[in-house]
Amino acid sequence: MENCIFCKIVAGEIPAHKIWENDHVLAFLDVNPIAKGHTLVIPKKHCMDIFDADDEYLKEITAALKKVSSLIKQDLGATGVNLMNASGIDAQQTVFHLHFHIIPRFTNDGLDTWPKSDFKDTSLEETAKKIRGS
Ligand code: AMP
Ligand code: ZN
Repeated sequence: MENCIFCKIVAGEIPAHKIWENDHVLAFLDVNPIAKGHTLVIPKKHCMDIFDADDEYLKEITAALKKVSSLIKQDLGATGVNLMNASGIDAQQTVFHLHFHIIPRFTNDGLDTWPKSDFKDTSLEETAKKIRGS
C-alpha cells in the first residue's frame, strides 16, 4: 500500500534489520526497541489491524511468532517474551500495517509490560452477554 512504511520495508524500499521471513511473513527489529531484540512480525500483504486481517495470514503470523520467539530465547538468552499488538487508534496503534511486537524478557530486566488500571467491572455476566449477543 502506498505510503505505508512497513509495505516499503517488505518491498525493500527502506532498510530494516531482518530476522526471519517466509513467503507470507517478515520479522525485523523495531527501530525504537524497549528491550534487546524487540522484534516486529508483520504480514507481507498489507492489512491494517487485527479486524482487517485474513485468517490464513493470522495462522502464518502465529507460527512465525513462535518461531521468532524461540530464536530470541535461544540466541539472545531471553527467558520469556511478551507478545503485543495494538489494533486501532484508541489501542495506541501508530503504524497502520498489522504488526505484533515480540518483547524479549530477561531475569530482573525491570520492565513492566502489563497494563495497570483501577477499572472494575461490576457486571461481568452482563458484559459477557453483550459480547456473545445473548
Ligand atoms: P505500534 O505503536 O504498535 O503501532 O508500533 C509501531 C512500532 O513501529 C513502534 O514501536 C516503532 O518504533 C516501530 N517502527 C516505526 N517505523 C519503523 C521502521 N522504519 N523500522 C522498524 N520499526 C519501526
Ligand atoms: Zn502496509
